[in-house]
Amino acid sequence: MNMTRIAIVGGGTGGTILANALSRKLGEEIREGLVEVVVFERSDSHVYQPGNIDIAFRGADPAGFRRPPSNLLRRGVKLVQKAVSSIDLDNRALKYNEGEKMDYDYLVAATGSVATPELVPGLAEASLNFHKTQEDSRKIWEALSRFKRGRIVILTALPHKCPPSPVEAVFLVDELMRKRGVRRDVEIVYASPYTRAYPAHGIADVVEPEMENRDITLRSLFNIDYVDPSARKVFSLEGEELQYDLLIAIPPHRGADVVINSGIGGEEGWIPTDRHTLNIKGYDDAYAIGDATDIPISKSGVVAHLEAITAAESIASQIEGTGRVYLYNGRINCPLEMGGKRAVFVSGTYTKQPERQPPSLTKYFMKRLFNRLYWTMLRGSLEPIFNAYLGSPYEVKHRG
Ligand SMILES: Cc1cc2nc3c(=O)[nH]c(=O)nc-3n(C[C@H](O)[C@H](O)[C@H](O)COP(=O)(O)OP(=O)(O)OC[C@H]3O[C@@H](n4cnc5c(N)ncnc54)[C@H](O)[C@@H]3O)c2cc1C
Repeated sequence: MNMTRIAIVGGGTGGTILANALSRKLGEEIREGLVEVVVFERSDSHVYQPGNIDIAFRGADPAGFRRPPSNLLRRGVKLVQKAVSSIDLDNRALKYNEGEKMDYDYLVAATGSVATPELVPGLAEASLNFHKTQEDSRKIWEALSRFKRGRIVILTALPHKCPPSPVEAVFLVDELMRKRGVRRDVEIVYASPYTRAYPAHGIADVVEPEMENRDITLRSLFNIDYVDPSARKVFSLEGEELQYDLLIAIPPHRGADVVINSGIGGEEGWIPTDRHTLNIKGYDDAYAIGDATDIPISKSGVVAHLEAITAAESIASQIEGTGRVYLYNGRINCPLEMGGKRAVFVSGTYTKQPERQPPSLTKYFMKRLFNRLYWTMLRGSLEPIFNAYLGSPYEVKHRG
């Protein structure tokens, strides 16, 4: 009997969860050499990205938020610590390590998204950001620790991962300036590309009064055009300008280079993906999950997680020939920290918008607890708890 190979490109949140879920579901087949699960990860460090918030706004130690990918994968999963340079969906093949080739039977693209300040003139030079690297996040902490007087502008460009993170940054900067006793001399401005402080109205209804109470200025419908670093001014497509002394930006994101270079995700690098089956459009044997897709849903770890679980079920089902198809229902559940040890959860599905809710201490502690549980969660041992709390991420149908 031939061996079936599942190639996963990207060993971040989604790719790691998917590989571990497959190794549980197909453990026997893997042991017998009938199935091989291969993860390609170019980096030697898996970073827990929400940790960037703690690094940038609480001065946390970056080392606590990264681990080697090899420590996170279950036995039976093969790790190739190399960059994939091209994916050929029609011929079921990929190239890696500057020219080596591997054929596959099933492919999952879990290549994430990349914060790209270089896309906006002047932005890379003028701003600091906590969406790219731990080192960049650390620079924000250093700048905020020195800042005594003037205007801090926190600005969001589209598209980007983790929709709650800019608003969290705003509240945590406010909290830090109060702790440091300089808040009276510091003006905080949040420039949002949306008509409101948050795209979901139920959440904007909670966030906006809180900003007003804390003397944070909201500039809505501000879509960045360019920055003039020498004048310390940001200009918007709407024709407005904003002066800053410190600029913290969430830059526009793009898909991974390999997606763009392989011609499977357009100029911006988002892979056309069926929002329910998670198949790359036109390919039954290829899937995309997490930030890499073009699905209009928040680019977040929780989505990468739930899509990974759904895709793992579908791939195992295809290999076992059960005839079952697993359809992702768009479930999301992202924490949004509001300072003062309070948080809300942005929860919903494709058919249910996030609802207004009072900020709570319990949700804050749940968010903090997750920082510790993340590494265990990647291995899949907490899945029953997530299922009980969040509900199933998919519906099951039979083919035909
Ligand atoms: C500051 C911040 C706070 C956040 N907070 C939250 C939160 O509270 N809750 C939440 O749900 N989400 C949060 N997120 C978002 C979350 O971290 C991402 O959405 C999530 O990691 C996406 O998972 P992914 O698997 O799609 O991509 P990633 O986890 O980014 O993984 C992609 C992987 O692909 C690899 N890769 C790319 N190209 C190649 C290649 N050619 N060859 C080999 N490997 C490749 C990369 O090295 C990377 O390891 C936050 C993000 C940030 C920046």
